[in-house]
Amino acid sequence: MNQDIERVKVLIVGSGPAGYTAAIYASRAGLNPVLYTGGQPGGQLTITTDVENYPGYPDGIMGPEMMEDFRKQAERFGTKVRYGMVTAVDFSKTPHVVTVDDQVTVHADTVIISTGASAKWLGLDSETRLNGKGVSACAVCDGFFFRGQDVAIVGAGDTACEEASYLANICSKVYMIVRRDEMRASQIMQNRVMNNPKIEILWNTETEDILGDDEVTGARVINNVTKEKRDLKISGFFVAIGHQPNTEVFKDYIHMDESGYIKTIPGSTKTNVEGVFACGDAQDHIYRQAVTAAGTGCMAALDAERYLAALENH
Ligand code: NDP
Repeated sequence: MNQDIERVKVLIVGSGPAGYTAAIYASRAGLNPVLYTGGQPGGQLTITTDVENYPGYPDGIMGPEMMEDFRKQAERFGTKVRYGMVTAVDFSKTPHVVTVDDQVTVHADTVIISTGASAKWLGLDSETRLNGKGVSACAVCDGFFFRGQDVAIVGAGDTACEEASYLANICSKVYMIVRRDEMRASQIMQNRVMNNPKIEILWNTETEDILGDDEVTGARVINNVTKEKRDLKISGFFVAIGHQPNTEVFKDYIHMDESGYIKTIPGSTKTNVEGVFACGDAQDHIYRQAVTAAGTGCMAALDAERYLAALENH
């Protein structure tokens, strides 16, 4: 049952670089934003290690520490940061109605969607069954549990390369399972894994099954050209095959592409619903960087501010 109803000018949904940057701008503009963190406060950067490509940190910074800095900066100007998941929305009228954790109702003049994206899985039964028992989508979170042991990682993008290199520092051997005969990752990341003697790349290879009853003991892989099968003896199985935007809750109102990424009007963060703006990975399947997410977070706050100013002048 809805118990509390709160009226806000700017409601920010999500707490990655996009959400916190929107919060910094909106709070400095005196709009008193409320930000709901979602299920992973700080977003994807809280499950990464060194961030070396965010301008302003010449020596790099750890992802979780950077997100703490973002939060503190947003709070310094008055953003109210709250823990909670948006579970329903009604964007058919103004103010927009947003329900948090099925309990709290917020009436918002503007909503900034910065819900980011989540890890994708292969879809094997064994992957679900052994999740947390050797199967993981976060090498940085769980790699430590497999120190000195053999592990495998699936994927061939920048994330998979980065995580394979990370695992190679901790584990004795890393099998990298790549489904094609080439990688999608940037050349510099590919070179890093190809030149690492602890990483063995299995080209044209797919995972048939993850082996083990109560914990991972191996993986059955198949070469999709020769059809040759092989059982890898491993104790950790990492999945790094991309992400899914966290936009499901908005789908009845907001226009999206076929993958669920929110469509914005080019050159802005405006969605098809007046007063609802989208920024960060929820609307960006191309760049997906912390700095681009932060940039669009800034745009969303400025777009919201202009929208509110126009409302007041009417
Ligand atoms: P990507 O979408 O770039 O890559 C996903 C990879 O997973 C592809 O190689 C894809 O294979 C593979 N894959 C997808 N589904 C399956 C499946 N079912 N079985 C096996 N393999 C599969 O995702 P990333 O997370 O790697 O990167 C996302 C974005 O973030 C990119 O733009 C990347 O550049 C960026 N990034 C940048 C970093 C940095 O600069 N430090 C670090 C990490 C990410 P296929 O190629 O065959 O489709």
